[in-house]
Amino acid sequence: MRYINLLGSTGSIGTQTLDIIRNSGGELKVAALAAGKNTSLLKDQIREFKPMLVCTADELSLDALREEFENEKTQIVYGKDGLLKAAAFEPADMTVTAIVGMMGILPTIKAIEAGKDIALANKETLVTAGHIIMPLAKEKGIKIYPVDSEHSAIFQCLQGEEHKSIRKLLITASGGPFRGYSEEELKKVNLEQALNHPNWSMGKKITIDSATLTNKGLEVIEAHWLFDMPYDRIEAVIHPQSIIHSMVEFCDGAVKAQLGTPDMKLPIQYALLRTERQGINEEPMDIVRIGRLDFYEPDTNVFKGLKFAYDAGNTGGNMPVIFNAANEFAVARFLNREITFTQIYELIERAMSGVKLVSAPDLETVLETERKVYEYLSDYLGGTA
Ligand code: NDP
Repeated sequence: MRYINLLGSTGSIGTQTLDIIRNSGGELKVAALAAGKNTSLLKDQIREFKPMLVCTADELSLDALREEFENEKTQIVYGKDGLLKAAAFEPADMTVTAIVGMMGILPTIKAIEAGKDIALANKETLVTAGHIIMPLAKEKGIKIYPVDSEHSAIFQCLQGEEHKSIRKLLITASGGPFRGYSEEELKKVNLEQALNHPNWSMGKKITIDSATLTNKGLEVIEAHWLFDMPYDRIEAVIHPQSIIHSMVEFCDGAVKAQLGTPDMKLPIQYALLRTERQGINEEPMDIVRIGRLDFYEPDTNVFKGLKFAYDAGNTGGNMPVIFNAANEFAVARFLNREITFTQIYELIERAMSGVKLVSAPDLETVLETERKVYEYLSDYLGGTA
């Protein structure tokens, strides 16, 4: 039996992680849960999984949670400090990072320092602090298991292979709901359309990132750090059916791909079980019914998120932080109906040309860059309002 800490338990990845734990036949148990504001779902999860520690980001529900659960030997903690405690909580041997955004950096570092392996869903952590996280994990002997389906696919293709044999990583993208749109058409899309992803059911932020193709850009940078691969050997390919989750091309020309129906349970379980395979009660893939698989080059003139990511990655320093923080800032405003869809690109471009570039940023500079991007873009939006 193994214990897991789960950060972001009430979200899309979090609830699917709990499905896997529920169906593990007692092999996996929850040590700590951390959630944001969805207290009613969190309460259900506490009743079912009986964690030893629970962190809430909702101050208003803290007393009620304590009153209801502390006599059942569940300790309830709150806020940023609570999140760090949950990330590093004993007796877990693995922490699942399924919160959104740069908020994931510090708990991931805390978990690594406490000797926990990481099941990494929170891609923004590696995008912005990969240069800190990867060496730290190596130093502490910690394994990082990718949860993102594309990175899990690459990780699966690489089992039994040597790094020096890799020629190229091919990351697939569905293309999102606006695949094939022109720039003019993209200017007119609304929030509801952007949230309507054709193949995947995910949290709101990543769904918007998929529609802008910024998600694929974040994944390119994530792959750069996870698989130690230069950007000119990572290629994004549009594959509308989302059946091939990604591919690896080797030096002898062989290409390995991992296929499956679009379902996050497989990559989550593969990470939780540290590459062991076990049955999942899902419809098996029917390749004959699928019939055909299509591939296209992404249109980075229209879907600029991918282009910005390569620019940011190739520039290095704190530029991926600027790119990511500007995207987080912009997507939050788009979700709040304060800006249009294509203004997301405008804000990212603005920040990437306006916020000061710093080479080799330490952790403090990474977090400071995030603050500077938010200030810079708030001023910019204030000025254009
Ligand atoms: P969701 O928005 O569905 O879930 C986010 C989770 O974080 C929720 O449980 C939320 O709590 C919690 N949370 C928010 N604020 C805090 C806080 N201050 N402290 C603790 N928890 C908090 O996101 P997803 O599950 O879609 O995505 C999670 C990460 O995984 C992202 O980085 C995403 O890019 C990545 N990812 C997601 C995939 C997917 O299929 N969804 C696929 C691949 C990667 P609450 O709801 O209670 O407010």
